[in-house]
Amino acid sequence: MPIASINPANGETLKSFEPLDHVAIEVKLQRAADAFGEYRRTSFAEREAMMQRAAEILEAEKSDLARLMTLEMGKPIKGAIAEVEKCAWVCRYYADTANQHLTDIVVETNATKSYVSFQPLGPVLAVMPWNFPFWQVFRFAAPALMAGNVGLLKHASNVPQCALAIEDIFRRAGFPAGAFQTLLIGSDAVEKIIEDRRVVAATLTGSEPAGRSVAAIAGKQIKKTVLELGGSDPFIVMPSADFDEAVTTAVKSRTINNGQSCIAAKRFIVAEQIYDKFEVAFVEEMKALRVGDPLDERTDIGPLATEQILRDVDEQVKRSVAAGAIVLSGGNRLDRPGNFFEPTVLVNVPKDSPASCEEIFGPVATLFRVADIEEAIQLANATDFGLGAAAWTKDAGEQERFAVELEAGSVFINGMVASDPRLPFGGIKNSGYGRELSDFGIREFVNIKTVWRK
Ligand code: NAP
Repeated sequence: MPIASINPANGETLKSFEPLDHVAIEVKLQRAADAFGEYRRTSFAEREAMMQRAAEILEAEKSDLARLMTLEMGKPIKGAIAEVEKCAWVCRYYADTANQHLTDIVVETNATKSYVSFQPLGPVLAVMPWNFPFWQVFRFAAPALMAGNVGLLKHASNVPQCALAIEDIFRRAGFPAGAFQTLLIGSDAVEKIIEDRRVVAATLTGSEPAGRSVAAIAGKQIKKTVLELGGSDPFIVMPSADFDEAVTTAVKSRTINNGQSCIAAKRFIVAEQIYDKFEVAFVEEMKALRVGDPLDERTDIGPLATEQILRDVDEQVKRSVAAGAIVLSGGNRLDRPGNFFEPTVLVNVPKDSPASCEEIFGPVATLFRVADIEEAIQLANATDFGLGAAAWTKDAGEQERFAVELEAGSVFINGMVASDPRLPFGGIKNSGYGRELSDFGIREFVNIKTVWRK
């Protein structure tokens, strides 16, 4: 099946590509293995210069790159520009800090000298999603390349042009041929690549089923994996919270990237003292969002990335309503070309309905009323996911309880869950394992080697 780039705002096919055949994949795998042999010996200073150059290219070309993303997967152009800028940031962050994160650590023992060194592993396969088509790739590639590994990208099938553009950026930044390659392949080709002896590890950002599959294949081969999977992040609002800021941030957190973010807040858990007021204000702000052409800078919400996602969201909302959920606003796909879905608010959501226990990857919010902090924490943790969590309160005791008791890879107090190159990012439970970003991220794909000299 061809790998097609389709504009989700109007259904137009922009370009399509034939997937690589076995021969072409073999060439790329061998090129990666050959490149690693040389590239692993480059100095941090050499890698730093190339990574800084990648950042410069991203900054210089951000308008065109952002437009490409928006055309391919529908994110509002403002967000696309911010995404390219963030990619430049992560390149600079690791260019500046990789050496320090991977410096030998001397440990006093009975040896004359014993220390820990961090050495590259080899070609790493990155299976990536379409929702942040640049950011997801750069947050893998910048640390992996700075650590001396080489990268093989299997990007989501609906963003082939972004995938090729990223390969081109690393090539123009001066990285040697084979240091970072895009493989235009379907997910059916992933198994053989992970099984290949030349590929030493894999990372997948995407859905839970895809993560289970990649981890199972890699597990059989005893190859390291990092998994960044889905989420159903809670957003808790307590009576002492800054109300207006909490409402505005809640709406942004649910609808950013057209509602297609793993760390989007998906369940809004509000203390009963302020619940009614919150519900009115939240619905009002959701209704005020501008849905439309993602290339227009005034647009808040563009189309969902594919027709299949639109059908999935529509079906999840319908099943939730059939189970008893009440629609306060939206609830339907828009009657116009493109994959548009109305910003939607659901209440009275039964526990076992999709809106309560599945990840809805679109602009659909569910509101819950709770009696106190006990019930808030219990409901927040009543999910198989554990990616992020946000809690809004001015009470220091409550802040501490949320920080300790929320079951998630990150907890943001009085803020929106977001990734930052300086902080580790990842989940627990079915949201995956391992960490990206920060010093933790760059140490995922290295041999943490003990050296002991008598
Ligand atoms: P997806 O369907 O799992 O696809 C992600 C990637 O995995 C794509 O490259 C896809 O290739 C590939 N893939 C799918 N099934 C596979 C399989 N069985 N074996 C190997 N590869 C497979 O996910 P998505 O719909 O693109 O992305 C949305 C999901 O990603 C959401 O659940 C979201 O929460 C999650 N996500 C998580 C994070 C995080 O950091 N935790 C960040 C962003 C997104 P094809 O496109 O060719 O199918």
